[in-house]
Amino acid sequence: MTADAHGFDTLAIHAGQEPDPRTGAVVPPIYQTSTYAQDAVGAPRLGYEYSRSGNPTRDALQECLAALEGGRRGLAFASGLAAEDTLLRAVCRPGDHVVIPDDAYGGTYRLFAKVAENWGLDWTAVPLSDPDAVRAAFRPGHTRLIWSETPTNPLLNVADIAALAGLAHEFDALLAVDNTFASPYLQQPLTLGADVVVHSTTKYLGGHSDVVGGALVTAGDELGEQLAFHQNAMGAVNGPFDAWLTLRGVKTLGVRMDRHCDNAERVVAYLERHPAVTRVLYPGLASHPGHETAAKQMRRFGGMVSFRLAGGPEQAVRVCNRARLFVLAESLGGVESLIEHPGQMTHLSAAGSALEVPADLVRLSVGIETIDDLLADLEQALRPL
Ligand SMILES: *Cc1c(COP(=O)(O)O)cnc(C)c1O
Repeated sequence: MTADAHGFDTLAIHAGQEPDPRTGAVVPPIYQTSTYAQDAVGAPRLGYEYSRSGNPTRDALQECLAALEGGRRGLAFASGLAAEDTLLRAVCRPGDHVVIPDDAYGGTYRLFAKVAENWGLDWTAVPLSDPDAVRAAFRPGHTRLIWSETPTNPLLNVADIAALAGLAHEFDALLAVDNTFASPYLQQPLTLGADVVVHSTTKYLGGHSDVVGGALVTAGDELGEQLAFHQNAMGAVNGPFDAWLTLRGVKTLGVRMDRHCDNAERVVAYLERHPAVTRVLYPGLASHPGHETAAKQMRRFGGMVSFRLAGGPEQAVRVCNRARLFVLAESLGGVESLIEHPGQMTHLSAAGSALEVPADLVRLSVGIETIDDLLADLEQALRPL
């Protein structure tokens, strides 16, 4: 099933998911096996010999993700960070340099600053929304990769994917885009020139807060082969049951994202009028500095909303503690609404660094519940003491 021939929602339900050839099962079975009987020495059936190297349930997910991103090769990993680590160690060597966003996801920042750096990888954090800053950070001959995230977590800054791809290619570097916040339903970086897309499938792709996973999707076959080699050689693969859960979530990605966006738009309109809120960060707002770029490269503006409070850090913490329907929790992208304080939760590892986030910031992952209930919960959480 090719991306040219079918619409997004059709691909989400069918790509990589032909009925099982043996039984006709409409849903791909969970091949919960570590190994496969071989017909003769050196003759594995259908090429499957060991589940780190290949598993039919994982293959179904990988094919589906490749179709949704409009890419050539999809690879599924044990977590988003496992996917990131595999990509870094496949394409970079000690002594190489990487440009990263100055407001990267906290775990991504920690991977660069506390792990890859010890291994000899150099990095510079810049605002990726500023192409001049990206150009100035380039070290020709050494910069191997621009690592981008758009919209970013939790400040929801927007980078111009096509412009970054042009810059990367001018210097013979690669552009990687962490597409976790938008999901392929809202944004397809490979069609804008990116070389590889990174996902935490834990978030919108899985969509039900019941599974941790990650993925890489490449624009080209060669990089796809290289990453597939490293997926097997490094071994951080997605397990069969996790792949099955993720694939089940992916089927409804389009309808879920539309509802996430509908609800987020209502939440933004509510917060914009609230006297306790000094600023709402959402790329769909005309006042957002990245709005024009976001409108150019995204179908809609997503389910993530951040806001800052007039009452400062204490009020931000209080609102998080008082919310009821919005569950106080890390992570995002599930059907249920979540609230968190990035400074003390997801982005604690960036404290004291250039990537520190404002302490009066609250982040919402707006779920797909009945909108009036969500607004009522925010109303009570924001009520003055
Ligand atoms: C959660 C997240 C990751 C890391 O993924 P895990 O599945 O938690 O390892 C990477 N990037 C972004 C934007 C995320 O939100």
